[in-house]
Amino acid sequence: MAWYEKLAIVVGMVLFMECFAWATHKYVMHGWGWGWHKSHHEPHQGAFEKNDLYAITFAVIVLVLFVVGLRWPPLWWAALGITVYGGIYAFVHDMMVHQRFGMRWVPRRGYSKRLLQAHRLHHAVKGKEGGVSFGFLLAPDPVKLKRKLAERHSR
Ligand SMILES: [Zn+2]
Ligand SMILES: [Zn+2]
Repeated sequence: MAWYEKLAIVVGMVLFMECFAWATHKYVMHGWGWGWHKSHHEPHQGAFEKNDLYAITFAVIVLVLFVVGLRWPPLWWAALGITVYGGIYAFVHDMMVHQRFGMRWVPRRGYSKRLLQAHRLHHAVKGKEGGVSFGFLLAPDPVKLKRKLAERHSR
């Protein structure tokens, strides 16, 4: 495989994973998988939450993809793309937005601020239903999200 084919797979997978994460978050985690995800919408003590089981599950799946990918390189590069997305997600979502593992950096402008606000608005709704902003790296405009939330509450 040429380097640009590998690069295309990795970049493509990162983009695909954002869509995948959006769909999983909206339809699985806020659907039949709420049992695990609920912990992420509640205040809690301790370093871990039940929701981390999702990260562990995805890590196991990706590990299997890497192993199978030893025989079929495109799959190995796809697994790497998923890992890159997972790394960005852990850094931005867990460390920056939720300040886990002792990180205390709050972005005050630019896209990272928008991303932070969009995800905070996701957490503005405590329950399973009626949430907004299920995606992650592609953050919608916070002003629009607020309007959407306000509309739902006035109904
Ligand atoms: Zn959620
Ligand atoms: Zn969160």
